[in-house]
Amino acid sequence: VRRNPGEAEFHQAVREVLESIGPVLVRHPEYAESKIVERICEPERQIIFRVPWEDDRGEVRVNRGFRVEFNSALGPYKGGLRFHPSVYLGIVKFLGFEQIFKNSLTGLAIGGGKGGSDFDPKGRSPREVMRFCQSFMTELHRHIGEHTDVPAGDIGVGHREIGYLFGQYKRVTNRYESGVITGKGLAYGGAHARTEATGYGCAYFVDEMLTVRGTSLDGRRVVVSGAGNVAVHAIEKIQHLGGVAVTCSDSSGYVLDEKGLDVALLKQVKEVERAPLHVYAERRGRDAVFVPGGSMWEVPCEVAIPSATHNEIGEADAGLLVRSGCLAVAEGANMPATPAAIRVFREAGVAFGPGKAANAGGVATSAMEMQQNAARDSWTFERSENRLRDIMRDVHDRCLTAADEFGMPGDYVAGANIAGFRRVADAMLALGLI
Ligand code: NDP
Repeated sequence: VRRNPGEAEFHQAVREVLESIGPVLVRHPEYAESKIVERICEPERQIIFRVPWEDDRGEVRVNRGFRVEFNSALGPYKGGLRFHPSVYLGIVKFLGFEQIFKNSLTGLAIGGGKGGSDFDPKGRSPREVMRFCQSFMTELHRHIGEHTDVPAGDIGVGHREIGYLFGQYKRVTNRYESGVITGKGLAYGGAHARTEATGYGCAYFVDEMLTVRGTSLDGRRVVVSGAGNVAVHAIEKIQHLGGVAVTCSDSSGYVLDEKGLDVALLKQVKEVERAPLHVYAERRGRDAVFVPGGSMWEVPCEVAIPSATHNEIGEADAGLLVRSGCLAVAEGANMPATPAAIRVFREAGVAFGPGKAANAGGVATSAMEMQQNAARDSWTFERSENRLRDIMRDVHDRCLTAADEFGMPGDYVAGANIAGFRRVADAMLALGLI
C-alpha cells in the first residue's frame, strides 16, 4: 500500500490473489526465495502519456493515456484498452494484474497488460472519437507490436475504436502488422467469434458450474448487468443454452423483461443506435419495464452474471441474491463483486466463478486471432466457437483441480488464483532474475 498509494482497486486485486496463494508458497519455498510475489506485483513497465486532440468546435482537449506492461513471462503483454472517465493508474494496474493470471489460466502463450484513458466517448461525435484514437495511437505505437504487446478492447473500446487505432498504427509505422491488436473487424484481419467470445465463454462457464452441481441452465432465470459487449453476448448464449435472461442495465438504470430479453432488439438499441436502455423498454412494449437508477440485484434469480464494471455487487446486494435463491454467480466483468460480497456467496454455498476464469474466453479468442493473423488464416465461426468452448471447459476444470489439490474443493476463487499463479511463477523461475 505504501509503495502504490491511492490505488485502491489495485490493492483489492492483489489482496485477493495473495489471500489464496499462501498454501502454494508453503509447498514451494523456491517461489519465496526468488521473491516471485514481490516481482509479480511490480509491473515490468508503466507508460503514462499525454493525449492532445481537438474537438468539433476546434477546442483543444488533453487526456491521459496509460499502458501498463505487467508481466511477459508467458508471452507478449496482452490485455484491453479502456476509455472511461474513471480510468487512472490504479484501475489500469488492477486490470493488468488480473490479466496476468487470467491469461495464464487459458493455457495459452500470453502475458498480462492493460491500458486506456480517462477519455469519455459518451456524447462525442464519431469524428472526435477518431481524432482521439489517432492521437492515442500516435504515442502508443512506440510501445506495442505483435511480439511485444498486443492491446484489444474493453469498456468504451469496441470495433469502431479498434479500427481507428489499427488504422493509425498502420499509418505511422507503414506496417500491416495485423497481430498488433485484436478485436479487429472481419474485413481487416479480425477473427470470427471474437466479438461474442467473452459473453459466450461466460455462459459456457456457468453451464459447467451448474453441471458439476448436477443441474443445468435449462429454464433457469438469469439476471445480467451491463448492456455492452460482454452482457449482450452472455444474454444471447444463455438463451441458446435454455436459460431465460430477464435483465440488463447501463449507467442510466436497468430493464426487467419477464418473458426473456429480445436480443435482436437489444443489439439494435445498444450497438447500432447507441441509445440508452429506456428506449429498449419503450419499443418492447408491455412486457418490459425500465427502472431508472435502481439496483437490479433485488430481482429474484437463480443465476447472476454481473457484466458492467468493478465493485457493482456489494455485501447487501449479495445478501439479496442469496435470499432470492441464487445458485451460481459468474463474473462477466472484471472484479464486479467486492470481497465482502464474495464472502457472502461463499458462506451461503453459492457457486462463484471469478472474472479471471469466467470471462477468460475473450482473451483466449484474442489469442486465436493472433494465431490466425500469424498464419494469414481465417477460421470459421464454428471452429472458433468450438475451441472457445473447449478452453472454457479447461479453465473451469483447472480451477477445480487446483482447489481440490490445496484442500479447498469447489472454491473457484482459490483455484483460479492458484492455477494462474503457479504457471506464471514457474515460467519466471525458469527465466531467471529478469
Ligand atoms: P462495454 O463498454 O461494451 O459495456 C459496458 C457496459 O457496462 C455498458 O452497458 C455501460 O453502460 C456499463 N457500465 C460501464 N461502467 C459503468 C459504471 N461505472 N456504472 C454503471 N454502468 C457501467 O464494455 P464491455 O462489455 O467490453 O466490458 C464490461 C466488463 O467486462 C468490464 O469490466 C470489462 O473489463 C470486462 N471484460 C471485457 C472483455 C471484452 O472482451 N470486452 C473481456 C473480459 C472482461 P453505459 O454505456 O451507460 O456506460
